[in-house]
Amino acid sequence: LFITFEGGEGAGKSTQVRHLAAHLGATGHDVVCTREPGGTPGAEALRDFLLFGGHDLSLRAEILGHFAARFDHVDRLVRPALRRGAIVLCDRFVDSTLAYQGYGQGHADPDILDLIAALTARLGLMPDLTLVLAVPRARALERLRARGGAADRYESADESFHGRVADGFAAAIRAQPGRCLPVPADRPAADVARDVASLVDARLA
Ligand code: C5P
Repeated sequence: LFITFEGGEGAGKSTQVRHLAAHLGATGHDVVCTREPGGTPGAEALRDFLLFGGHDLSLRAEILGHFAARFDHVDRLVRPALRRGAIVLCDRFVDSTLAYQGYGQGHADPDILDLIAALTARLGLMPDLTLVLAVPRARALERLRARGGAADRYESADESFHGRVADGFAAAIRAQPGRCLPVPADRPAADVARDVASLVDARLA
């Protein structure tokens, strides 16, 4: 089973990955937690380049960079783990590329969306379940400020950018309602975790 978490920054994805891993681990499942961009040494190096490298790539080049990281991650970590029967939990996956590069940076340009769709198809692997954590932007900003630390190049983008990113996640939910489920996340993490656990348990049953 391949489960991905999506949503804007400060939505609580990494916290929910930890909660779900603990829940599944307690019932004896082999659980692998990973993230994108990243998850393998090469993909983590590409993450540094893409998020913190200070280079301004053309949008299509940037999309290929995200997919270069993703193919390495899928080929070397995700697919082998799934083959041996593990449950893989991933913080961000293809829907983030759709939301950030396709909608946020690309303004839903059909050529850009086509490129993302074509590369996604060539992965030959899609999540079984994607949980899209939704928090109002003001709340996400509060969480990000409380967290502190270095902001990557996207966190400082303007508010209209983040609005388009949210539109991108909404489009993913509309396009694939069986796979992509919205999860309201503007509440205590333990409450979100309980809902996530029951959604996942229902898939496992
Ligand atoms: O999930 P996390 O906060 O670690 O994501 C790191 C950053 O990468 C975020 O600021 C997000 O906006 C950005 N990102 C992106 N395009 C992707 C995936 C992540 O711009 N496809």
